[in-house]
This record gives sequence, C-alpha cells and structure tokens, in this order.
Amino acid sequence: MTLAVWSPPTAPPAPRDAAARRGSRYLPRTRAEGPGQRAALWLQGCDVRCPGCFNPQLWAHRGARLESAAEAGLRFAEEARAAGSEGLTLLGGEPFDQAGAAASIAEAFRARGLTVMTFTGYRLDQLRAWEGDRPDIARLLAATDLLADGPYLRDRPDTRRPWIGSTNQGLHALTDAYRREIAAIEAGEGDRDRLEVRVAADGSIEVNGWADDEALRSLLGDLGVRRDAPSHTAASAPPRKARP
Ligand code: SF4
Repeated sequence: MTLAVWSPPTAPPAPRDAAARRGSRYLPRTRAEGPGQRAALWLQGCDVRCPGCFNPQLWAHRGARLESAAEAGLRFAEEARAAGSEGLTLLGGEPFDQAGAAASIAEAFRARGLTVMTFTGYRLDQLRAWEGDRPDIARLLAATDLLADGPYLRDRPDTRRPWIGSTNQGLHALTDAYRREIAAIEAGEGDRDRLEVRVAADGSIEVNGWADDEALRSLLGDLGVRRDAPSHTAASAPPRKARP
C-alpha cells in the first residue's frame, strides 16, 4: 500500500460563486479570534486540507448554509457594530476558497469603519502572484487589514505568537490598522492566545480561541455538552489553533 504524502497547494483555488457565501458559524463579539473585541465568521469549505487540522468537518464545500454574501455582509456588520466590535475575523474553512463572497462581507465591514482579519492556508506570496488574474482574490486581499497565512504544520507548533498554529505561519499587516500590534507580537511583547468559554442557559458549552486537547479536556471534562463540538454539530466546530 502506498501512503499519499500531503504537500501544500501550488495552484490557486477554483473560482466559486461570488454572490453566495457558505458559512458555518457567526459570532458578533469575541475576544479570542484576533486583536481586540471582534466578530468572527467561520466559512465552510477548504481545499488546503492540512494534516492535523482541527476542523476537518469544515473541509467539505457542500452541506453548509448558503446565503447572499451581500445581505450577510450588511447584517453581520450591523450586528458587530451594535455589539461594539472593532472588526471581523474570517476563519476557515478557507476564506480564499470563496474569495468573492468573503470579499463582499469584508467590504461591508470596511465600509462601516471596521477592520478585517483573514486567516488563510495559502501563503501571501502565492495570493499576490494569483491576484492579477483573479479579481476575487485581489478584492479579499484589498479588504483585509491583517492576514494570517500559510498551512498548519502540526510538527511545528507555535507557542509564542497568538492566534496562529505553527511557526511557518505569518502575521502580515496589510494596512496600518494593526502594524504596531504585529511588530510587538513579533518582538515577543504582544498579545497572547486566549480561550473563551461560553456556557449557555441550557448548560451547553462553546469554546473560542485555542488550547491544546489536554488542556481543553482538563478544563471542560466535567462541565457538560459542548455545543461547538464536532460530535454535536458539524456546522459549528471549535476553531482552536488551526484556524485558517
Ligand atoms: S488548518 Fe485551515 S487551511 Fe489547513 S486544512 Fe484546516 S481549515 Fe484548511
């Protein structure tokens, strides 16, 4: 038997319908998914498929909620602003696998003076090489203030920088919005990972941010059913560390 060896993608993602977004979960307010308090949107579908990804239930492009990206962007941006969030974080799945739809949502936030952070399993240099032929990729890059890039490599865990999973991944300030914060993080003086645990009135638990499996088990082991656990619902999975 021959085992397939995974290698990072070298070709751009297939273009997809820019008018419709495939999503899995939206939060108007969290402090665990990027700088400050922000909204977070998990998109469904990822063709990068890093071995060790914590969210394989978000790989399939089918089976997600499908809705107008323009309408979703307006609604999400208004909810985020009402919640007092400073911006949006787009998480995977893979936002650039539906770059046109993700761009429409990001642009709705930017139009209201809110910032955008985007996680991707592709590298920034690849996206820059592809954007000339792909207006959808160019739009999402243009609407992104802070990009976390690169595939998740489980044998290179990053315990120093917040939000990202492995040392090969980068944090790129594409505008001035978070340039100082990123410089501080790279100098070892910035933000750290946060874990956010929400307990609903029915006792179910939802976790945002990151901790390793052992820490999560020890923290949550006797607290009850996790609403975001893959075994409970595939459409609202925990992001944990491997977010792109
Ligand atoms: S870590 Fe991110 S880019 Fe990699 S397979 Fe998982 S969702 Fe896709």
